[in-house]
Amino acid sequence: MVRGPIGREKGVFYEQERNRLPDPYISSKNHFPEPTVCPTCKLVYAKQHWHKNDGEATLLLNDKKTHKTKCPACRKIEDNYPMGVVNISGDFVSEHFEELVNLVKAEERRALEKNPLERLMKVDKVDGGIHVETTSESLALRIGRMLSKSYKGNTDFKFRYGDKYVIVDWAR
Ligand SMILES: [Zn+2]
Repeated sequence: MVRGPIGREKGVFYEQERNRLPDPYISSKNHFPEPTVCPTCKLVYAKQHWHKNDGEATLLLNDKKTHKTKCPACRKIEDNYPMGVVNISGDFVSEHFEELVNLVKAEERRALEKNPLERLMKVDKVDGGIHVETTSESLALRIGRMLSKSYKGNTDFKFRYGDKYVIVDWAR
């Protein structure tokens, strides 16, 4: 998939505007038959939404009539199609590595309560810091804002024109 350039001009920052941008894995044309269960993460698709209910998923998976299709989050992970990146760097990181990873994971848990499709794809230790990839733009934004709120530092948001994708650079 061809993706647009990245910029930070005025306009692309406005969240309402960003919210209207399409997610190519969740288009309005992209409805699934009901019920559908994701065979990878066991999310259930009903009333045009994916939700988590392991008991229901187990019952549905035993029913031959249930459709089995990977959910958008599992497809993004399989296609390696992140919609958010957070680069955490600086001297602060080496001394607070665990703490920072815990903050990232806590934000994922919070996001999952509202939307089970907002997940971490990668939390990698890299030279000089931590590289995080997410299945949604908003999860990366939340992590960036929480880093800034909790530890100050410098945060920079770079958005991609035309589709949801943000690179958050945080350094301290
Ligand atoms: Zn899934």
